[in-house]
Amino acid sequence: MADRNTLRTTAGAPWPNNQDSLSAGERGPLLLQDYQLIEKLAHQNRERIPERTVHAKGWGAHGKLVITEDISKYTKAKCLQKGAETPMLARFSTVAGEQGAADHERDVRGFALKFYTEDGNWDLVGNNTPVFFVRDPYKFPDFIHTQKRHPKTNMRSPTAMFDFWSLSPEALHQVTILMSDRGLPQSPMHMNGYGSHTFSFWNDAGERYWVKFHFKTQQGHDFYTNEEAEKIIGKTREGYQERLFNTIEEGKYPRWKFQVQIMPELDAEKCDFNPFDLTKVWPHDQFPMIDVGYFELNRNADNYFAEIENAAFSPSNIVPGISFSPDKMLQARIFSYADAHRYRLGTHYETIPVNRPRMEVLNYHKDGTMNVYGGVRTGNENAYYEPNSYGDQGAAVEDRGAQEPPLKISGDAARFDHRVGYDDYSQVRALVMKVMDEPQRQRLYKNMGGAMAGIPTEIAERWFGHLRQVHPDYEAGVRAAWMEANQSEEYMANSHPVTDDTPQQTSGNNAGDQPQAAE
Ligand code: NDP
Repeated sequence: MADRNTLRTTAGAPWPNNQDSLSAGERGPLLLQDYQLIEKLAHQNRERIPERTVHAKGWGAHGKLVITEDISKYTKAKCLQKGAETPMLARFSTVAGEQGAADHERDVRGFALKFYTEDGNWDLVGNNTPVFFVRDPYKFPDFIHTQKRHPKTNMRSPTAMFDFWSLSPEALHQVTILMSDRGLPQSPMHMNGYGSHTFSFWNDAGERYWVKFHFKTQQGHDFYTNEEAEKIIGKTREGYQERLFNTIEEGKYPRWKFQVQIMPELDAEKCDFNPFDLTKVWPHDQFPMIDVGYFELNRNADNYFAEIENAAFSPSNIVPGISFSPDKMLQARIFSYADAHRYRLGTHYETIPVNRPRMEVLNYHKDGTMNVYGGVRTGNENAYYEPNSYGDQGAAVEDRGAQEPPLKISGDAARFDHRVGYDDYSQVRALVMKVMDEPQRQRLYKNMGGAMAGIPTEIAERWFGHLRQVHPDYEAGVRAAWMEANQSEEYMANSHPVTDDTPQQTSGNNAGDQPQAAE
């Protein structure tokens, strides 16, 4: 007799036997009509979906965003008004490693947040660093290629990484952070998150402000050295998952303080640097931090695949009161993230429960694979086009109040050399020589020199030329560490003779020494 917990086929019929296949005689071959067996094997073949090209290895949890301060003069976003509490999902990730990669690898960490607001989903898809490696999206795929496997050797290639970086001085800032203590946090709870791009706020009066988002860990910036990480990876490759999951299960909910930096719209024109350049920060003394509130993670997913793997974050998801900026990398990501989800999860990825907005969604998109919304999606069965005459009979109508104020744009439509007119050294100098103390600098030199082990001298010298422009001590420290790494027993044991014209590869199994970067 079928009951509530009866095992059923996908079509809902009671499943009588999940042990023995249907065969012609006890020792005979199977019958094709054993539908349940075929269905079971077919499902197994389809259990994996394409892993993300980047950010494949991730850990996440549910929580809430709480607003404690009044920032209504900057934004009308309902989820950012004092007292608002918004359910949310966070997914943290490494960038370069595949799904089976070890958690404790030196890499930039993805820091993706989805807020289920009453005005729809707002996604902030940032990193644990305030800057990025490139400022023009033409260089985004090229950069990522240097982080993934060499097409012939199928190994990670420090030569490719440093070749690209040494030809891209704008990368120096992010590479410095990657090689610093912050490049290997102890867990996702021990790192900051940054929206990284410049975004915009707009208020009830239609005034626009440029904004940078910061999420400051309340757990402290604990990090591991490469050597410590290697030991951990020898014991577990899932250290972040274990730590985040268990901490939340124990009821110790991690928190991040939420702050913003603000710039009035027209001040961008007076700025002595490009405020839309993703490779630079807004200095704190010019743009002080403004407290907004905090977020807390307090619930693990019941089903990792359904709620974390299937989660689709895209900077294209904004809500009234929050919008984009002219940052060229952001403009490209508005397209490429949503497109990655259409490829990975399907056209209707936002109907998957974890991605679904928390209200009924009416619009005029029609049909398509896996369109599972059901019901009258336009609000009126006769209104399957727009404009129509059914607005007063439930058909979806526009909300012109959600339109952001117009943005003045001027200038020639042209390709502007993104390497001209930028100072790629001063902010790195401030970080290395002013913000870091001597032990931090020494670890930075060692990490970077170690990561450069075995790369061709010509590439190394080009890189040292950039470090010299930051500060002679930076160059000297990394050069000494590089020479030492080239001589180290470990490197000699893992390296193999190469011909002069073959880019030298390392095995990539010494995870702590390999830089892995970016988004
Ligand atoms: P500040 O001295 O006011 O800011 C320095 C900031 O650097 C700190 O507030 C902290 O940011 C961050 N920081 C501290 N230690 C490290 C580290 N080991 N690795 C990376 N970041 C660290 O000066 P400025 O605002 O003028 O910035 C100076 C430099 O600091 C910048 O050029 C940039 O490299 C770096 N920085 C600046 C940030 C900004 O938004 N202005 C943010 C992060 C780094 P936090 O509070 O975010 O932890």
